[in-house]
Amino acid sequence: MPIAHETLLEINLEALAHNYHYLRSKLDTDIKMMGVVKAYAYGGEAVTISKKLSELGIDAFAVAYTSEGIALREAGIEKPILVLHPQSVNFESIVENCLEPSIYSVFVLKEFIKTAEKLGLKDYPFHLKLNTGLNRLGFIEPELETIFEVLKNTEAVKLKGVFSHLAASEDWKERQFTLQQIGKFRKMSFQIIENLGYKPLLHLSNTAGIFNYPEAAFDMVRSGIGLYGFANDQKNDPFLKPIATLKTIISQIHELSEGESVGYNRAFTATGNMRMATLPIGHADGINRKYGNQRAGVYIDGQYAPIIGNVCMDMIMIDITGIDCNEGDEVIIFGGPQPATKFAEKGNTISYELITGISQRVKRVVIEK
Ligand SMILES: *Cc1c(COP(=O)(O)O)cnc(C)c1O
Repeated sequence: MPIAHETLLEINLEALAHNYHYLRSKLDTDIKMMGVVKAYAYGGEAVTISKKLSELGIDAFAVAYTSEGIALREAGIEKPILVLHPQSVNFESIVENCLEPSIYSVFVLKEFIKTAEKLGLKDYPFHLKLNTGLNRLGFIEPELETIFEVLKNTEAVKLKGVFSHLAASEDWKERQFTLQQIGKFRKMSFQIIENLGYKPLLHLSNTAGIFNYPEAAFDMVRSGIGLYGFANDQKNDPFLKPIATLKTIISQIHELSEGESVGYNRAFTATGNMRMATLPIGHADGINRKYGNQRAGVYIDGQYAPIIGNVCMDMIMIDITGIDCNEGDEVIIFGGPQPATKFAEKGNTISYELITGISQRVKRVVIEK
């Protein structure tokens, strides 16, 4: 492991490969896997991670927005890329870059067909998004007839996949609801298959779905957080390895005596003699102000040091009283002794928000092992 000389996010490709193989081991061999690499591969580094996943044998990728798909194409990623949330203004770029749109409403379906016909396309692939209860994007059952009608009148586009998204696959209290979603997905998919006369690729499960609902794997699963090392479940988390470690360095150490304050608005006051350190990472790097004032802390050589005072834009201050450390020493924000899940909990949030929020000014360093 390289020593941090500045703030950096270390991405471990060996851990990524481990997670990929572990998730695969949960699936029958004929089930495809789509790697969800939206939001810079959950705050990691989308191109490097997608290249590694391609090498490992992933079948396809998903991104949220068109620009993310274009960036992958420009970097030479050749596998199919599903754009989960396109707008009609994106359809020309989607076609130019061989991306596959998710079509989630009658309005975007019509707009997509309009573009495809204008460009003289034939059988351009797309995925249909079904709303089975998340109530975010997608078609409901009564709309299927309209879709069939619209599709019957064009040869420009061809349905490649049908998918939906589970609302609470990680939550055992919502098992009944999830089973209902799976049932609804199966029923609507069968109606589509019957009407089209062929079977598109069916995909429903996200990471927690892979672990908790093997019966919902259908033809393909979509995994994001699992590839990055989190199962959203204490029982399964130990089988995965978080791929990212956020590190920084001690910039400066101060000795304080009773009554001296630290940082903006003097939010922390020393109650006696103490030692504190300043670190070059702040809310502009993705460390929300919620983590300040002793809510969360960092690790120095295995020892916990709480964040004191308010989180600044570019810095945090920590209490290092009793910790044997020097200016220039490495500090771990998350990863290693403190997984992102644990750090996130202290800010009342989840690993997804923490890791995707690490801003682009934090240098990414990829390590093979
Ligand atoms: C983000 C996303 C996923 C990935 O979910 P994980 O819980 O990270 O595995 C899958 N499907 C859709 C539609 C998504 O938006």
